[in-house]
Amino acid sequence: MEKYDYLVVGAGLFGATFAYEAAKRGKHVKVIEKRPHIAGNIYTKEVDGIQVHQYGAHIFHTSNKKVWDYVNQFAEFNRYTNSPVANYKGEMYNLPFNMNTFSEMWGVRTPAEALAKIDEQRQEMAGKTPQNLEEQAISLIGRDIYEKLIKGYTEKQWGQKATELPAFIIRRLPVRLTYDNNYFNDSYQGIPMGGYTQIVEKMLASDLIDVAVNTDFYDHKDEFLESAQKIVFTGPIDQFFDYQLGELQYRSLRFETEEKSVGNYQGNAVINYTDAATPYTRVIEHKHFEFGKGDKDKTIVTREYPADWHRGDEPYYPVNNQENNQLYAKYQQLAAKQPNVIFGGRLGQYRYYNMDQVIAAALKTVDKEFSD
Ligand code: FAD
Repeated sequence: MEKYDYLVVGAGLFGATFAYEAAKRGKHVKVIEKRPHIAGNIYTKEVDGIQVHQYGAHIFHTSNKKVWDYVNQFAEFNRYTNSPVANYKGEMYNLPFNMNTFSEMWGVRTPAEALAKIDEQRQEMAGKTPQNLEEQAISLIGRDIYEKLIKGYTEKQWGQKATELPAFIIRRLPVRLTYDNNYFNDSYQGIPMGGYTQIVEKMLASDLIDVAVNTDFYDHKDEFLESAQKIVFTGPIDQFFDYQLGELQYRSLRFETEEKSVGNYQGNAVINYTDAATPYTRVIEHKHFEFGKGDKDKTIVTREYPADWHRGDEPYYPVNNQENNQLYAKYQQLAAKQPNVIFGGRLGQYRYYNMDQVIAAALKTVDKEFSD
C-alpha cells in the first residue's frame, strides 16, 4: 500500500482541519470516512434550495477570534442569531430565560418584578441542599420555570427522571434580566451561507489529500495501520482498543425529516418541546437558518428524538459522568503507548466539543505535531 505521511480516520471537522493543515505543510494525507459523505456531523445537504442540517441544528458560535477568522476562510457566515422558542403544551416561551420568558410566564414587566418572582419561587428550597436535578433547578429558578421549561425536556434528553439525575448536571442556569432572546453570549455567531459541507470540502481540496468515503477503518485495519507513518483517529477511542477496558457510554438521537407543502411551518429555526408527553425534544425548520432561502412553497422540518445508545448506534453525545471519565482516563493511558496514533475530536477525546472547540483542539494538535 502507498505510504502516506498521515492517515486520518474520520472526515469530520477535526480530521479535516488536521488534514488541511498537514497538506499546507507539504504532507501527503489519506482521509477515510465510513459514512457515504464527508463533514461528519456538520454535514448539510441542499434540498429544494434549503440547506438541511442532517445531524441536528448546527449554529456556529465562538468568542475565539482566531477560530472565527480561521473558519471564515472557508465560508461566508450570515448574521443568524440563535433564538429558540419553547412550546409547552401550546404555550410559547422565548429562550434562554429572559425578560420575554418571565413576562410571558408571570406577566411581570421590569427586572425588579422578575427577580422578586424568582426569589419567591426559590423559597421552596430555602435552607435545603439539592439532592437531585429537580431540586437543583427549583433552588436556582423556582418551580414554574422548572415544570414548564426544564423538567420534560431534560427527562427526554437523558431518558431518566429528573429526581434520579444528579444535581451537578445543572450547575447554574443563565438568567438574563433583559429582553434579549440571543441564546449565546459569544462575540461571534452565524450560519455559513450555502451550508457547512463546503467548509470541509475546501479543507480537503488539496492535491496532497486523498479522500475515500464508504470506507471503514476496521474493514482493513491492518492495511490501514501500515499505510501511513502516523494515524489521526477521530472515531470512538474505546472501539480503537477493541473495548478491552469496557464500553464508554453515549446518548444517541433519531432524526425524522419531512417535507411540508407550506412556505413557513413554525416561524423559527428551532422550537423546543418542553412537555414530557411529546416524544421529541426539538423541531428544526431548516430554511430559517438562512432567512427563508429556498423553495417559497415548501419547507423541510426535522424532529429530534433522544435515544439510548447501544453499540452500533451513532454515538452523538459522550456521557461525561465520573464513571465514564475514569474509564476514558484509562483509555488515555493506552493511547499514550501508541506514539504513532493521535486521538482527536469528540469521539477520540470523549468530550462534548462544539465546532469552535473542535477547530481549536485540532489547531492545538497541529501546533504540537509540527513544532518539532
Ligand atoms: P464527527 O463530526 O463525529 O466526525 C468523526 C467522523 O469519524 C464521523 O464522520 C464518523 O463517521 C467517522 N468515523 C468514526 N469511526 C470511523 C471508522 N471506523 N472508519 C472511518 N470513519 C469513522 N456544535 C456547535 O458548535 N454548535 C451547534 O449548534 C452544535 N449542535 C450540535 C447538534 C447535535 C445534534 C450534535 C450531535 C452535535 C452538535 N454540535 C454543535 C457539535 C458538533 O457536531 C461537533 O463539534 C463536531 O461535529 C465534531 O467534529 P468531529 O470531527 O470531532 O466529529
